[in-house]
Order: sequence, then structure tokens, then C-alpha cells
Amino acid sequence: MAWFKRKEPKIEKKVKIPEGLWVKCENCKEIIYRKELENNFKVCPKCHYHFRISAKERISIMTDSGSFIELDPELKSPDPLGFKDTLSYKDRLLENEKKSGIKEAAIYGDAKINGKEVVIAVLDFSFMGGSMGTVVGEKVTKAAERAVERKVTLVVVSSSGGARMQEGMFSLMQMAKTAQAIGKLKEAGQLYISVLTDPTFGGVTASFAMLGDIIIAEPKSLIGFAGPRVIQETIKQQLPEGFQRAEFLLEHGMIDLVVERKELKNTIYKIIDILVPSKKSDEI
Ligand SMILES: [Zn+2]
Repeated sequence: MAWFKRKEPKIEKKVKIPEGLWVKCENCKEIIYRKELENNFKVCPKCHYHFRISAKERISIMTDSGSFIELDPELKSPDPLGFKDTLSYKDRLLENEKKSGIKEAAIYGDAKINGKEVVIAVLDFSFMGGSMGTVVGEKVTKAAERAVERKVTLVVVSSSGGARMQEGMFSLMQMAKTAQAIGKLKEAGQLYISVLTDPTFGGVTASFAMLGDIIIAEPKSLIGFAGPRVIQETIKQQLPEGFQRAEFLLEHGMIDLVVERKELKNTIYKIIDILVPSKKSDEI
């Protein structure tokens, strides 16, 4: 009798997807084709969530191709406290260097933005959460000093959890050091554009990140000093919706602009073009 014969269950052949070909959006949970994401400046095409990007990716998006010349790439953090938690600080630095491909949480150098000469410093969250120790402070300071020397605009892109605890007091001192360097840049009359990306917190927010003549943030970036949970527990009050997001800060006058990643380069170019009298060599 044929009717009770069981049909062979269909086994669907699994199509093997090469690893890393698809990415899940952290915001809308959509599965996105990695190439599509990369072609879209690492912004989710479905919900516009801005993925975190490395300092090198940031530089390639924001500056003219081939124009970036990195300075002091060899600078490495000392271990002034001989700090050790589950891992010694020295080993943690090595581990982060291997993981991120850079020697510290910031890189800086000369670059051009649509032909405009700038000095740019970028923090990298993938290196110890973009935390500011002595090297990050030194690089931001040197970038400011170089902008004064070259009479060009300074652009700093931040993404950081704050001061680096493994260097203790030395990390906190970087707040004063970077702030005074920015002060000198302003005395010299040079423009400073600060770009805040997700996330920017702690000692970085409390120093150079908030000292920009123009402060720009990427959409939905979390920006603050202490995190929302700490604040909520301290003041014992419910925080408003969207608290510490870029759009909330814009509404409350803490920042000047919220700009999508793909528009950042042109926006910065326009700001420089309007605010800085152009030299002939600056023209494209
Ligand atoms: Zn999305």
C-alpha cells in the first residue's frame, strides 16, 4: 500500500556561507551583507545605525586619499605604576596592539580634507576602549601644537571610555595637558573642530573633546561624563528618553551639529572654508 509509505524527509542542503560575509546590525538586528555595509561607510542601510570604526577607517573616510602622514607612530605607553589586574598592564598593551594593529589608542598626523590642510588626531575604541593614558594625551597635545606651528585647522575625532585607570594620576593629568594645548591653539587663532563618536565619555569629554570651536557628533552617539546608570543611581530620578544621545545634546545646546558619517568630510570642509581665510595653496 503506497499511501502510508513515508516520504523521505526533505533535507535542505545548507548553503555554506563563508564566515564574516554577513553582519548583524546591533540596533535593528537585520542581517546585512558586509560589502554593502562597508560601501555605506559602515552605517546600517536599514536603520542608519553607525557602527564603530577603527581610527584608520575613520581617516580613510574623512581625509583625502593618500594625504595622511602619521606622526610619532612609535610612541608607546610606559607602565609608571607597575599595574596588574588579571593581566599585567604591559601584557594588556601587547594584547591590544595585536588585536587592533596600532600601538596606542590614538593616531595623529598631517592630512588634507578636500584639499584643505589639517592636523587630525583620531582615538580608536578597539584599543583599550580608546582610553586616555599618557600617550593619547601626548598625541592630542602634539597634534594641537603642530596645528599652531603649521597654522592649520585641528580636527580631533573622539571615541573613548575616559581616562585609563592603569596609569592612574598620570592619565588624569592628560586632561589639563590637552586642555592647555587647545588653549594655546585658540590663542593663536587656529580653528579646532571636535568630532564626537559613539561612545565619548569621562576624562576625554571633560577635556579636549568638549573644547572644540565647533563640536560635531555622529547620529545617536552616546556622549557624557558618567554613564546613565551611575547618574540615575546618584540622583534617584528617572532620566529623560534619549538622555546623553547626540540628538538630545544638540537640543540642549551642548553640541553644534549632528552629522551623518558620509557627510562628515564635506561638512568639515565647508566649516573650514567659511571660518578660515584661504591661502592660495589650500585651493583644490
Ligand atoms: Zn540597523
